[in-house]
Amino acid sequence: MKKGENFDKKQQHYGHKKNESPKMRQSNFEQRPNKKQELAKVNGGVFVYSKPLSVSELSEAINTPINAIIKYLFSQGKMITINQILDDDTIGELCLEFGYDFKKEKVVDATHFEELEIDDDPSLLEERPPVVTVMGHVDHGKTSIIDAIRHTNVAGKEAGGISQAIGAYQKEWNGKKVTIIDTPGHAAFTAMRARGASVTDIVVLVVAADDGVMPQTIEAIDHAKAAGSEIIVAINKMDLPGANPVRVKNELMAQEVVAEDFGGDVLTVEVSAKTGKGLDDLLDAILLKAEMMELKANPNRYAIGTVLEANLDKGEGPKATLLIQNGTLSQGDYVVVGTIYGKIRRMVNENGVSLKVAGPSTPVSVIGLSEVPQAGDRFMAFPSEKQAKEVAEARALKKKEEERGGSAALTLSDLNNIVNTGKIQDMNIIVKADTQGSAESLKANLEKLSNDQVRIKVLEARAGAISDSDVLLASASKAIIYGFNLRPDARVKEKAKEEHVEIRTYRIIYEILEEVEAVVKGMYKAELTEKVTGSAEIRHRYKITDVGVVAGSYVLDGTIKVGEKCRLIRDQVVIYEGKINSLARFKDRVKEVSKGYECGITLHNYQDIKEGDIIECFEMVEKEEKNA
Ligand code: GDP
Repeated sequence: MKKGENFDKKQQHYGHKKNESPKMRQSNFEQRPNKKQELAKVNGGVFVYSKPLSVSELSEAINTPINAIIKYLFSQGKMITINQILDDDTIGELCLEFGYDFKKEKVVDATHFEELEIDDDPSLLEERPPVVTVMGHVDHGKTSIIDAIRHTNVAGKEAGGISQAIGAYQKEWNGKKVTIIDTPGHAAFTAMRARGASVTDIVVLVVAADDGVMPQTIEAIDHAKAAGSEIIVAINKMDLPGANPVRVKNELMAQEVVAEDFGGDVLTVEVSAKTGKGLDDLLDAILLKAEMMELKANPNRYAIGTVLEANLDKGEGPKATLLIQNGTLSQGDYVVVGTIYGKIRRMVNENGVSLKVAGPSTPVSVIGLSEVPQAGDRFMAFPSEKQAKEVAEARALKKKEEERGGSAALTLSDLNNIVNTGKIQDMNIIVKADTQGSAESLKANLEKLSNDQVRIKVLEARAGAISDSDVLLASASKAIIYGFNLRPDARVKEKAKEEHVEIRTYRIIYEILEEVEAVVKGMYKAELTEKVTGSAEIRHRYKITDVGVVAGSYVLDGTIKVGEKCRLIRDQVVIYEGKINSLARFKDRVKEVSKGYECGITLHNYQDIKEGDIIECFEMVEKEEKNA
């Protein structure tokens, strides 16, 4: 295929609607949010809309008088005014009543390409290889299996190829391909998910036949389930005399992973990475599962996917492994990765072979980006440098704004607010407790609190300390962690803070249930508690023209900051509560002063200070724990 042909074809099918001209689709990228005509239209008897609509907007779009709509709704017992916004169900009902089929379409401008829901016409889709991640307990043989699969039946090296570690590889098997991510373990998997990227279709859970289900096996199961990936079990080390696959399957059943021969639907394969036995069955099982999953993609669109790994190569500059998840990436394409952009100058596969084009599920190492992206960043290819540059710049701006605005993680207060807007919501919870009994009891009782609006999902309920891995899972799944009779250690607390994950610790089960119930009913109020952030002693009092009375002070503890809440204490009696008005060191105004330094302080609207008074600064923070 000539480059030009490929280009046109891709452009034609780019986006949701195949009957749009390439020009329109392109302009859709540059679309500004207030271009109204795109929000709703009738397309071949199907009413397509993308945003909530008012009665009058719908009336115009489906060419039906407003009165007729209001009259119909009235007959259904709904009193609705012209400018009232209609919900999706009502729009659907009205369309059917007035003779249209309907479809809600998510229109995303290219800046937010991670949210792009690709909804290509089924006739454009082609089968794509499954993407597999290998997980399991340490030393159970994950790396050995990844290596052994790579080298099974390699009928001579590919021409010119030198095997390279690029983070993933493709294995050909019975005329089909399987893409294997070669960083094993759930840490990388979940870290990626925490960044919003989900690349794995199938998780191969490795369990050593002589060791059975171990703590990280269980963690891996939780992580795979939370991600919605399919699980295939590889019972490894079958060459060892102590191998006992029946025991492994029994132990897995206790974790709700039920093998086919035990009446469940999980494929299990007995293998030995050492002798190579069973690896072909494992590949067969992966392909069988993939077939059942009907994994498809449209190769005729610009590529979209995820960065698997990236580094700075001394000779070649920024280098990244991209997993193409949909579409085709061609040498010369312009791509936006995270907030940077570049032109694909060179693209090689895991065998070091240069590729001109790479289709869905292919991992490729690329050169040509302006900077090193981060693993888990999403990428998308664009037809022109101009578009790529604009999108990258818009994304960089958005990222800055987000950083200013804090995180997107959900807190109990956020959930409570969502409930109050009437939206249906999942509430994901991770339970850790001192005993398995309490964890299970909490899980059962928490799940019972689900109602029509909030579905409570306990992703994990186990005995044991709250770990980094729990925090990552919580971050990836927007979950709240409940600790019962446990206190997270400082490192985990720090991690939770970084990931903006809320950890709540309690010593009474009932109080946890009460709190969650309040959230579910939209009646939760964060209990605030006071945290002293600094204190200073007033050593002398003086006046400055235009400023007023200044407290020459010495900071005893913490820091004193301008604008912070504070109180003035004299002989243990609080005589003023207000704010720090200004701070000065020598002649300079400063924003804050730390322990061990002298400074001049003025209080907001208060001048009656004395030597020996204490100024105490404090802030109100959400109470983290009760009785713990
Ligand atoms: P990982 O930590 O899960 O990646 O485990 P590795 O692949 O590093 O394997 C851990 C140890 O188990 C190594 O010493 C391997 O040689 C050994 N091992 C892996 N697979 C097999 C197997 O099928 N049979 C036997 N006997 N040993 C194995």
